[in-house]
Amino acid sequence: MTDLQETVARAHRAHAGDAGGKNADYIPYLKNIDSTLAGLAVVTTQGEIAQAGDSSFRFAIESISKVCTLALALEDFGADVVQEKIGADPTGLPFNSVMALELHGDKPLSPLVNAGAIATASLIRATDKEDRWQRILGMQRSLTGADIALCDALNESEQTTNFHNRGIAWLLYSAGSAYCDPMEAVEVYTRQCSTLLSTVELATMGATIAAGGRNPITRKQVIKKEHCARILAEMTMEGMYDSSGDWAYTVGLPAKSGVGGGILTIVPGVMGIAAFSPPLDDVGNSVRGQRMAAAVAGALGYNLYQC
Ligand code: GLN
Repeated sequence: MTDLQETVARAHRAHAGDAGGKNADYIPYLKNIDSTLAGLAVVTTQGEIAQAGDSSFRFAIESISKVCTLALALEDFGADVVQEKIGADPTGLPFNSVMALELHGDKPLSPLVNAGAIATASLIRATDKEDRWQRILGMQRSLTGADIALCDALNESEQTTNFHNRGIAWLLYSAGSAYCDPMEAVEVYTRQCSTLLSTVELATMGATIAAGGRNPITRKQVIKKEHCARILAEMTMEGMYDSSGDWAYTVGLPAKSGVGGGILTIVPGVMGIAAFSPPLDDVGNSVRGQRMAAAVAGALGYNLYQC
């Protein structure tokens, strides 16, 4: 067993059975996923893979999809347009907050909260709804190097319950911050949240960003190197929602979570660390996922703020 594999196995063993948290229940599909599942994986920028537990179980990407759509918006329009139209600041409020929009003159502030992600999906260059969706799905596939696909049951579960997000889309529209039909934007955003991926595939996405946009498994340059720094900054600001500051303080790495139980944290230039387990804390971050990912980073001595 390699040292890396040993570290991953140890972090998984230490936290895969931790108690606390509960599955997201506002999306019916997620409520029914086995809460005992727990996977952990590392993919390095050299293409080395280490994994433990349920690391090949495919779970809902949810908010982690926001990273992929952000990457596409950066490729389409460049960093300045994304900063001006969407933003690069923390909201300090829950991921689906309407108040955050109201407080900031209807500017979403971050592409990694629902309002900002719906606005980002609306911004993507596209000829119509299907083109918008295929381009976003294509970016998920390129970053992971995997045949990512929509889960019809999950999509159905989300599309029939996403009334709050539709409300956010109309608010964006009334403020001039929706760049296509708002219901098209929210439908495509909801689809992008409804794909499935494994912990190893998520770690590969992280490794691609860590490697300056080159997928270490497929060896394809997916996005420009200069955009990776912007993605990592956005992840630091808002990737763990209203506990992004706590994550920076305790772990010191850019990260992104989703209510499907996934967490991706990235060591720039070195690796992607991905963890998955469904039970979430009050903010919406996987309880075991945070502990497993933090344990790997800590054991390997990675913290961007460490002198
Ligand atoms: N699809 C979910 C939503 O829009 C994603 C939220 C999340 O993962 N935090 O509410």
